[in-house]
Amino acid sequence: MGKNIDVELKNIQKSFGSNVVVENFNLQIEQGECVSFLGPSGCGKTTTLNMIAGFLEPDQGDLFIKGKRMNGMPSNKRELGMVFQTYSLFPHMTIFENVAYGLKLRKTPKSEMQERVKKILEVVKLPNVADRYPKQLSGGQRQRIAIARALVTEPSLLLLDEPLSNLDAKLREELRDELKRLQQEIGVTTIFVTHDQEEALYLSNRIVVLANGKMEQVGTPWEIYNRPASEFVHTFIGKSNRMYGILEETHPSQLRLRTEEGFALSASPKGIELRTGDQVSMYVRPERIQLAQEESASTDMNSVKGQVKLISFLGAYTECEVTVGKHTITVRLLAEQEGGALKQGETVYLEWKPEDMFVFPRKVE
Ligand code: ATP
Repeated sequence: MGKNIDVELKNIQKSFGSNVVVENFNLQIEQGECVSFLGPSGCGKTTTLNMIAGFLEPDQGDLFIKGKRMNGMPSNKRELGMVFQTYSLFPHMTIFENVAYGLKLRKTPKSEMQERVKKILEVVKLPNVADRYPKQLSGGQRQRIAIARALVTEPSLLLLDEPLSNLDAKLREELRDELKRLQQEIGVTTIFVTHDQEEALYLSNRIVVLANGKMEQVGTPWEIYNRPASEFVHTFIGKSNRMYGILEETHPSQLRLRTEEGFALSASPKGIELRTGDQVSMYVRPERIQLAQEESASTDMNSVKGQVKLISFLGAYTECEVTVGKHTITVRLLAEQEGGALKQGETVYLEWKPEDMFVFPRKVE
C-alpha cells in the first residue's frame, strides 16, 4: 500500500506580468516527508511556497493539502505552521503569549493551552523562557521559539522559508540539527525553502531543484548528488571540476572522451542524452580524485598528469590545486591519503574512476 499524499501540486503556474515565475510545477509530498525547494535567488522558491501558504493564488493548476483542494482557501484555513527568515515574533508579547497565539485564535481552553505551550517549549529545549520577551533571547533562541509557535497548533504542514539564514555559521548548524530531530520526532510534513545546498542535503528526504521557475530535478539527496539530471544540478550542488572536450566513441557501458588538451578519458553513461562527436563538458568531484606519484598501470582508471600548484591544509582534509594543461583541477585528499607529503611544483598523476565522471552536452555560450 502506498503512503498517504499530504500535499499535491498539479501543473501550478504563476506569472508576474509577462514574467513566468513558476511553470508546470507538479509534485506529490508524502505524509511525514521533508521536501526542500532548492535553487538560486529568483528561481521561484518563495513564490511556490507562498502559493502553498495561501499568500498568492496560482494562475493555473490545482493545489491539494490532505486531499482537500486549497485554491482560493484563505491562509488561516489551511492549518499550516510557518517559520520565516526574519524573526517574526511579536515584540510586545512574552514568549508564552507568542507561542500560545495560534491556540488562542483557535479558542483553546486555558489549561490545555498552558500544557501545550509548556510541552512544545520543552521540545525546542527552551523550557524556562516563557515569561521573557523576544528581545531578551538570542537570535537562535528566537528562531527556536518561532519554530515552537509554528508547531504548537499541530499543523498538517510546516512551511519553512530560509529559517536559518539570519544566524551565524555555528548556530545555523546547531539549529539545523535541531530541526532535523524535531521534524523526525514529530513527523510533521515539511517544506523547506533554501538556497543552501548543504542544508537541503542534510535535512530533506527529497529535494526539488529549481532554476528559472522550472523543476530541474526531484530526487533524494543521494540521487541529486550522484545522478544529476542536468549540468545545472551537478554544478549547483557540491564542488566539481570541469574540463571541455569531445565525445569520441559511445559504447553501451562506456563513453570515450578526449579533453581539449588531448587526454583520453572514459566515463560510464548516466542516462544523459549524448551523441558521438558532441562537444561536451566533463566533470569530476574533488573528493573522487586520487593522487599518485607514478602513472597507474591500470587501464580502468582515468589518469592525467599535472603539477601541484597550491596545497591548503584544512584539518579533516587537504585541498590541492593541480595544473593540468590549461585547467586547474581541485583535489580533496583525506588526512590518511598523506596530503602532508605533497610538495608544491611536484609532478603528480590524477586518477579517478570512469563512474565518477559526469558528462553533459556543452552549452553554446
Ligand atoms: P530568493 O531566494 O531571492 O527569495 P526565490 O527563488 O524565492 O528567490 P521568488 O521570490 O519566488 O524567488 O521570485 C521569483 C521571481 O519572481 C523573481 O524574478 C522576482 O523578482 C519575481 N517576483 C516575486 N514576487 C513578485 C511580485 N510580487 N511582483 C513581481 N515580481 C515578483
